[in-house]
Amino acid sequence: MARVVVTGGAGFLGSHLCEALLDRGDEVVAIDNLLTGHVSNIEHLFSRPGFTFVQHDVSQFVWVPGPVDTVLHFASPASPKDYLDMPIQTLKVGSLGTHNTLGLAKAKDARFMIASTSEVYGDPEVHPQPETYWGHVNPVGPRGVYDEAKRFAEAMTMAYHRYHGLDVRILRIFNTYGPRMRLQDGRVVSNFIVQALQGHDITVYGDGQQTRSFCFVEDEVRGILALLDGPLTGPVNIGNDGEFTILELAELVIELTGSSSKVVFEDLPVDDPKQRQPDLTIARGQLGWEPRISLRKGLERTIPYFRAALDR
Ligand code: UDP
Repeated sequence: MARVVVTGGAGFLGSHLCEALLDRGDEVVAIDNLLTGHVSNIEHLFSRPGFTFVQHDVSQFVWVPGPVDTVLHFASPASPKDYLDMPIQTLKVGSLGTHNTLGLAKAKDARFMIASTSEVYGDPEVHPQPETYWGHVNPVGPRGVYDEAKRFAEAMTMAYHRYHGLDVRILRIFNTYGPRMRLQDGRVVSNFIVQALQGHDITVYGDGQQTRSFCFVEDEVRGILALLDGPLTGPVNIGNDGEFTILELAELVIELTGSSSKVVFEDLPVDDPKQRQPDLTIARGQLGWEPRISLRKGLERTIPYFRAALDR
């Protein structure tokens, strides 16, 4: 049993992570400024023993009284729409927020994990992407605010590891989806499901031939815990290597929702990566983890959440 601080604990992924930690008997201090997170994601956790919530922006100095064994820094806008709307906050939470939470981990002699991202690979010229690939990122493009903040966060984490001897884990998350994504999140899975359920046009950006590899949140959380508990510093890719074009995703969502929605094509966002697929050799070989839930099965478990959310 450990006492774990989770920043971004009221977010989509953070809230599932808090729940999994409580399920295994850990104490959880969730910190969130509720910029993109929501209390509704963690309402059901308030009654559980060992759960505490603190509303705070970790871009500011952060302190947690009492012992802390683990600090998981998951706070950040994660949808391209959000980080384009909130570029400065995105840069601050990835840079200052990482520095502050590393400082907390150091003061508490705690293990630290940074939630990094496949976006550190940018628009990749190597496919699939192994952790050894350094990436192809435009620092001055609109996505740079997220990509470079996360790249800085990885560098800062390694500096604390090398200079202060901090015990760290670097996690690279690939497109994760599931229940508790916001209706207006802006990412492709939630957009398509909401559009299909409402009978609106499905907005495919560009020609829809760009690819992504989608990981169901339950698999992602299991992978995060495997990395956290395991011996590797990382970085380690955690995602699902089933790769789909965005048009294939649109067709699958239409089929599974039984929708009569039509696909329409809109402009491709600037610097939108053309392809993305995790190389999972390290996760499989050295952590003994792999994703189990196919895109079809994961969508079947996600669509009812959105149906209920829309009914509300
Ligand atoms: N996308 C799309 N329609 C949408 C939202 C996104 O075609 O309504 C595309 C987007 O251009 C990208 C892919 O889907 O190629 C994944 O986008 P998302 O915002 O989910 O995350 P990203 O992987 O780009 O960070």
